[in-house]
Amino acid sequence: MTPVIVWFRDDLRLSDQSALHAAIETGRPVLPVFILDDGSAERWAPGGASRWWLHHSLAALQQSLQECGARLTLRRGDSVATIADVARQTGAVEVFTGGSVDPRARRLDQAAAAALGGGFHRMRTTTLFHPDSVRTKAGGAYSVYTPFANACLALGGPKAPLPAPRTIRGADPLVSDCLEDWGLLPGKPDWAVGLRETWTPGEAGAMERAEAFLDHGLSGYAVARDHPAHDGTSMLSPHLHFGEISASQLWHMAHRRPAGPARDIFIRELLWREFCANLLWHHPALPDAPLKPEFAKMPWRDDQAGLRAWRRGQTGVPIVDAGMRQLWHTGWMHNRVRMIVASFLVKHLMMPWQDGEAWFWDTLVDADLASNAGNWQWVAGCGADAAPYFRIFNPILQGKKFDADGVYVRQWVPELGRLDPRHIHAPWDAPADTLTRAGVSLGNTYPKPIVDLGIGRSRALEAYARIRESA
Ligand SMILES: Cc1cc2nc3c(=O)[nH]c(=O)nc-3n(C[C@H](O)[C@H](O)[C@H](O)COP(=O)(O)OP(=O)(O)OC[C@H]3O[C@@H](n4cnc5c(N)ncnc54)[C@H](O)[C@@H]3O)c2cc1C
Repeated sequence: MTPVIVWFRDDLRLSDQSALHAAIETGRPVLPVFILDDGSAERWAPGGASRWWLHHSLAALQQSLQECGARLTLRRGDSVATIADVARQTGAVEVFTGGSVDPRARRLDQAAAAALGGGFHRMRTTTLFHPDSVRTKAGGAYSVYTPFANACLALGGPKAPLPAPRTIRGADPLVSDCLEDWGLLPGKPDWAVGLRETWTPGEAGAMERAEAFLDHGLSGYAVARDHPAHDGTSMLSPHLHFGEISASQLWHMAHRRPAGPARDIFIRELLWREFCANLLWHHPALPDAPLKPEFAKMPWRDDQAGLRAWRRGQTGVPIVDAGMRQLWHTGWMHNRVRMIVASFLVKHLMMPWQDGEAWFWDTLVDADLASNAGNWQWVAGCGADAAPYFRIFNPILQGKKFDADGVYVRQWVPELGRLDPRHIHAPWDAPADTLTRAGVSLGNTYPKPIVDLGIGRSRALEAYARIRESA
């Protein structure tokens, strides 16, 4: 019997996998396929940290499919040509796959649908709701988060998740690439040590983290989520990005926990993800161009030395450096600190938000076209429902408020480890003998700030005010 193909893309799991489910329902043998299409000069090809994650996630998926009776075929090349080729080789006339909000994937879908005719089925696997099902009363797209979230909540929640199949009638396997040969893992230097220490990619790892967070973290989430030194958030973002757990599964799992403000806030965070996905669906240029067109005229600076210092966590501003080093070591950064480091780059240094977005893209294990672009534009003030232009995060006050004891800074910036909490967020203001006692020599053991925060702030405010006037 000719098989049906399941084309895995952004949904590397077996449970709540509507494409896989529909394929099994046909009663035909199932051929699972994953295509690595990274040969083009695509600007948003997966970055280093994403490739590391993808390797491990695919290894886990291969294993779970095999345990159910199916073999994952791996192919590398142009997605559309490859899926059409696999269909030709096997005689399959039906391909089931997950939908994506990524503009490139949408273009490829159109081409694949044309190549495969009526047998191309795209199912919703990555978002809670189909982006076209959440619209304003006038039928338009939402550009403000709160009414968008309220509209989602009014839909009454996503459908109950589908169970994972116990067995799959696997099709005769095709010749497959070897995952190891794809070179997704770093060679030398091996920069992935911290990633290995921090994460367990794959569906089982995702479920374990989700259960642990919902059982032990959710009740304290409302407060703890803002404090980067605490394990106060779920750290599920990379698992969600690779679709190792679906947003719908999480929604329903959360709703099996006691109701209350913490649960509501968590659901609303999932809706921020949904909002960003929705924005990208309606504004495919979101990763590259400001949603507010007047921001194209922003007089950004070209401070390459500042950008380098920011990337390396050597700006001399402790909470910024702590965040950037957490990112480099673990492939992840706490949300509060993401806002602080992003604000520092685009406002204090006046560097284009796209430079920060590109660095996050390469280094985050949860790098997500929609959430990354949506949040960078939000911080820069040029996006949907953006932070007001005059909101410039003060890294000293943010540090004092959300890392009052300096535990987070001490963890990631050990050079300041012996500095007391009163001075840890602004060591340049500490008395000389305090610095000496703590073994800190500014400009030697730890950098002096690369920008005067007051001057940087005024410069940004002036530029932003000019843009506003010209709008
Ligand atoms: C400049 C900047 C860039 C960002 N880039 C990304 C990115 O590339 N990928 C990404 O997944 N998130 C991004 N975020 C959003 C947010 O920082 C992360 O989703 C969050 O830190 C992930 O940690 P968590 O899973 O513990 O979150 P939790 O607090 O446990 O939240 C649960 C889930 O809700 C979603 N979520 C929470 N906050 C946001 C948000 N502000 N926007 C969108 N979704 C959200 C995530 O899927 C997250 O896993 C960015 C934020 C900023 C300020």
